Parts: sequence; structure tokens; C-alpha cells
Amino acid sequence: QKQLILKERPNGIPDKDTFAFREVEIEEPSEEEVLLKTLYVSVDPYMRGRMSAAESYVAPFQVGEPLSGGIVSQVIESKSDQLSKGDIVRGNLPFQEYHVVKANTVHKVDTNGLSPSVALGALGMPGLTAYFGMMHIGEPKENETVVVSGAAGAVGQIAGQLAKQAGARVIGIVGSDEKATYITEELGYDAAVNYKKGQLDQQLKQACPNGIDVYFENVGGDIGDAVWPLLNTFARIPVCGAISSYNLKEDEQDIGLRVQWFLIKSRAKMQGFLVGDFADKFSEAYPILAEKVSSGELKFEETIKEGFSSIPDAFNGLFSGENIGKQLVKVADV
Ligand code: NDP
Repeated sequence: QKQLILKERPNGIPDKDTFAFREVEIEEPSEEEVLLKTLYVSVDPYMRGRMSAAESYVAPFQVGEPLSGGIVSQVIESKSDQLSKGDIVRGNLPFQEYHVVKANTVHKVDTNGLSPSVALGALGMPGLTAYFGMMHIGEPKENETVVVSGAAGAVGQIAGQLAKQAGARVIGIVGSDEKATYITEELGYDAAVNYKKGQLDQQLKQACPNGIDVYFENVGGDIGDAVWPLLNTFARIPVCGAISSYNLKEDEQDIGLRVQWFLIKSRAKMQGFLVGDFADKFSEAYPILAEKVSSGELKFEETIKEGFSSIPDAFNGLFSGENIGKQLVKVADV
């Protein structure tokens, strides 16, 4: 079986020297263990941080060792009472095609007839991130204006719909016309602006005549410069991510958030968060998200690349905006 390892730490955008595949043995399960076949691999922006040596809220990947992250697998052999052959599970696992793990280290997934991949997107870490960032920090209210950057991505696509369902007017910032059409026509966003078309400040001002009450920040960097001047008094800013800075080279200065003056003027509350801060409330959010996803009230898109060897391309595509919705890699059929 193939395993994907970190060959070299990238300086800037990861390239062909960053990743390597190697062949490893498929082990036999012992008592209490299961043999899993990988179905879907999640590629996520935060993995870029783990490719650098810098200590952060998650430990760096080790050079010469496998990358790891969210994986959905099927049990193909079980020596545990907890899981049966055929069960679908989610785990945080090394990137390889098969795993032998203790049954209690993965979680059984019931996706109510939806594709198992949903457990890595709308009903996985990105869905929970959108839920807590928007509902617990953004707290959108009826008739308020909510702006979401990275609006057509895994987190953004759910965050915007939740704000809409709370009665807000929702505007998405995206990097292509195709994404603008997706969020307005499929997801019900009220308007979309494409930052790649330039003059974002003018575009956003036009789309937000009543100012901005909630800004869900997914991208960082200078996109926020168009947002800050429009903040209304007591606006809220869930600061979820800053993907525009993840590939900066070591000697490049992060332009950072030039936001202070506008925060003071608007008395807006800006709060960084990690989805893990809400771990004790996942059981509250999950049934709400599951009900909305099953009933179709929450829509979502997935961009799926085929084959284990496409993981590096799928990951790099996150930084050039190739994905609509959750980017996944399909490794095998159920
Ligand atoms: P996405 O599915 O949104 O994929 C990344 C998208 O970001 C791309 O499709 C692209 O869309 C956009 N993008 C890439 N580079 C830039 C850039 N330089 N400037 C502006 N936009 C860019 O990823 P996720 O939904 O998984 O993650 C979104 C953000 O949320 C990330 O910053 C991530 O780190 C963060 N996050 C934080 C969590 C937390 O606990 N705080 C948990 C999960 C995610 P486009 O074509 O529109 O440019």
C-alpha cells in the first residue's frame, strides 16, 4: 500500500520536493483492533502550518514521516466487539490506503444515507467550525449584514447559510465567477463579490449599503482592508483563518491585519477561535447540522480528486482556489 510522507519542509508554496510516496506493509489486526480501507482523505489548509517546523496549536509533521489528517474508512476486518465489517468510521490517521488501529481510536459514522465523505466536510470539522464561529461568536441577527470571506469553501459555504437562516443579509467574498454563482444561486447568499476582479472596497461598499455587522474571516491579509471601514458599531468578527498567509516564505513579512483603528472606532469584538475550543458542545451542534444536511436545508458542495496519489495536488489546489466546497480525495469505493 502507498503512504504519503513529508519529504522536505516547504519554504513558500509546497512543490514536488515537499511530498513523496512510499510503499509500506499492510498489517494484520490483533485483538481489539480493526483493519480499515481508506475511502476519503481530507486535505485542509491548517496542514500547511504543520509542514513547517514552527510550534503551533498542533505539532509539526516530522520529515520522513507520514502526513496525517481526517480520513473516512470502511472496516474490512474486525477483531473488536465495537465495530463490524462494513462499518464506516472517521479518524485522525496517517495518509495511507489501509490502517490497523484500536477500534476505540476511530468514530463510527452514520451519515443517514449521505456519502461518507460528508463526515469530513459539512458534518465534520469544517461544518462544526462554521457553526461555532458563526452562531457562538458572530451571532447574526435578523436583518443584519454578514460578510463571509472564503465563502465558497468548506467552512464558508456552511457559515453563510447559517447566517442566512438566522435572518441576516449575507454577502460572500470569493475568487471566481463560478464560485459567485454557486453561493448566490445554490446557497442563497444575497450577493457575491469577486476579490480577483479588483476594487474590492468599491464592490463591497456597493454590496453592503447598511455596513457590516458580522465579518467571518477565513482568509486574512489585505481582503479585510475592504471590510474594516464598513464595520458597524458593535460588529462581531469570528477570526477563523488566514489562508492568504500560510504559504508566505520565511523572510516575507506577513502583512497581517491592519485592523486596530477600525476595531476601536466600531467597538467591534474580534475573536480568534479553534473549533476544538467548543469540543464540549459538539454533541449540541451535531444533531442540528445533521438534521439540516439530511433535510436539504443546508446545502454543500464537494470537490473530489480521484486516487491516493492526487493528495499533493488536492492540497495545493486549496491555495489556488481550485475547490468549491470541501476538497477531498477519493481513494476507494465503499
Ligand atoms: P476552503 O475550502 O475555504 O479552501 C481554501 C479556499 O481559500 C480556496 O478555495 C480559495 O478560494 C481561498 N484562498 C486561497 N488562497 C487565498 C488567498 N491568498 N486569498 C484569499 N482567499 C484564498 O478551506 P476551509 O474551509 O477548510 O478553511 C477556510 C479557512 O478556515 C482557512 O483559513 C482555515 O485555516 C480555517 N479553519 C480554521 C479552523 C479553526 O478551528 N479556527 C478550522 C477549519 C478551518 P477563492 O477561490 O475564493 O480564493
